[in-house]
Amino acid sequence: MKYLLIGLDDIDSYAGGCTTHFATYIVEKILVLGGYLTDYPRLIRLNPDTPWRTRGNGAVAIEAAFPKRKIPHLLDWLEKSLHEYIILNDGLRPGTQPGIVVLDGSRIKRETYEKLNLFSSKALYKIVSHDELESLISYLGKRIIKMVSPYGRRGLIGSLAAIGNFLPHDYTYELLVYRKLSIRERDRSLNIIPNLDWEDEYTFAHVDLERKNILWSPHGPDPVILGIRGDRISKIIRIFRNIEKYLSYDRWIIYVTNQGTDEHFKRSLYDQGQSIEAFNQYIGVFKLFSNPLRDKGGHLHSNAIVNSNSIEVMVYEPSGRLRDVMDVLEEGDKVVLGGVFKPSRYHANLLFNTQVISFCSIPIYRESYVKPICPSCGSKMESLGKSSGYECEKCKYHIRGSLMLKIYRSVWIPHLSLPPYRSIRHLSKPLKRYGREHKYRVKGFKNKLWFYSRNLNGSL
Ligand SMILES: [Zn+2]
Repeated sequence: MKYLLIGLDDIDSYAGGCTTHFATYIVEKILVLGGYLTDYPRLIRLNPDTPWRTRGNGAVAIEAAFPKRKIPHLLDWLEKSLHEYIILNDGLRPGTQPGIVVLDGSRIKRETYEKLNLFSSKALYKIVSHDELESLISYLGKRIIKMVSPYGRRGLIGSLAAIGNFLPHDYTYELLVYRKLSIRERDRSLNIIPNLDWEDEYTFAHVDLERKNILWSPHGPDPVILGIRGDRISKIIRIFRNIEKYLSYDRWIIYVTNQGTDEHFKRSLYDQGQSIEAFNQYIGVFKLFSNPLRDKGGHLHSNAIVNSNSIEVMVYEPSGRLRDVMDVLEEGDKVVLGGVFKPSRYHANLLFNTQVISFCSIPIYRESYVKPICPSCGSKMESLGKSSGYECEKCKYHIRGSLMLKIYRSVWIPHLSLPPYRSIRHLSKPLKRYGREHKYRVKGFKNKLWFYSRNLNGSL
C-alpha cells in the first residue's frame, strides 16, 4: 500500500459538473480497486473573492492508502475520467482551469507539511501568485506523482491548497446528495416544507428565516440535490434519513470542511502585518470619519481609516439587516469590521466590502451645541458666534453663553452582526457556532456511514 494525497479543484463544467461530485467518482474508484480512505474527504473553501472563481470556491482533498501496483492504473484513470467528465457535462465553463494533483504522502517531513500548510493558508485570504505555485511545485519535486491541468495551471493552486489544509483546528461537516448526471431537471419534490429540525443548534445555513427561503439546495445546474451542514455527523445523518424518501439520488458523501469556521479571517490574522490589497480578506479596527449614507440601490457607504489607509466602507444591499447596524454608527466611531478589499469602479482607492461588524469603541453620548427656542416668543434663535450667545430671529430676545447638550446615542450594537444566510459566504461562521468551535481535529472516521453510491463499479 502507498499513502496518496489527492487534491482537485475547479472542475466546473458548463452544464454543471462540480469538483465535489467528481471527487465521489475518485473515492469510488479507490474503493473498487482495493484502496481505502484514511479520513473523511475534505472540502476546503478558499478565498471567496477570487475574481475568476465562483463564490463557493471549493477544492477537495482525499487521503487514501492504495495498492502500489495499481497506482499507474489509477493515475491513467484520473486523467481519462477528468476529460470524460467534462465532455459528459458539455464542456468547461469558460475561464475554469481544472486541476488534479497526486502526492506521495508517505514519510512527509515536518518542513514539507509546513510549506503545504502555509501555501494553503494564503489561498484562504489572498490571491496566490503563479510564482508561489511554481516554487511549491519545484520544492515538492518527486513527491508529485501526477499533475493534470489540461487548460492552464490555476486549478493546481486549489488542489495543493486543499492537500495542505488538514483542518487541524475548527471544522464542520457537510453531507452532499447528488442526482444522476443524466438527469438534468431539478427535482421538484425538493420543495418540502421546511421543518424546524433542519435548522437546530447543530446544523446551519439550511433556511433563511428572514425570507423563509430554503438554502440547502443550490440553484445552479450542478448535480447537487442538497447539502446538509452541521457540527455533528449523527445529527446530519438523522436529517438525511428523514428526507431520503423524497429524493431520487444517485450518491451521497460526507465531507469534513472549513465551512462555517471563519478560517479565512483567522488565517489573515495569523499572517504578520495584514496587507491591504485587492481581494484580501481582512478583519480589523476601522475608525469612521463620515456618517454612513444609504444610496439609491440601498447600499451603505462610509469612509474609514484602517491601518492609516483611507478606505470607502460598503455594506451592500444583500447584507440585509447588517446595514441597519452600520446605519447607527457615526463619524468618530471605532468598530471591528471583517470583509474583503476590492478595487473600486469609481476611484483609485480600494473599497471594503463588509461581511461582519463587531463592537469596538463607541461613545455613549456625543456633545453638541444646540440652538435654543426663544423663551419669549417661541421662535428659533440664531447663534451669534462662539460664546456670543443667541438672538431670536423674530423678537430679537438675546441670551448669553452657549448651550451644549449631551446627546445620548441610542446605540446598542450587538457584539457581533452578520448578514443573513442567503448572502453569507460558505466560510463565514454562523452566530450559533460561536463558542462551539473545535479546538483540534483527530483524523479518521467517526461513523461507518460516510459514502454511498448506487453503482459502486467506478465507471462514470
Ligand atoms: Zn423671540
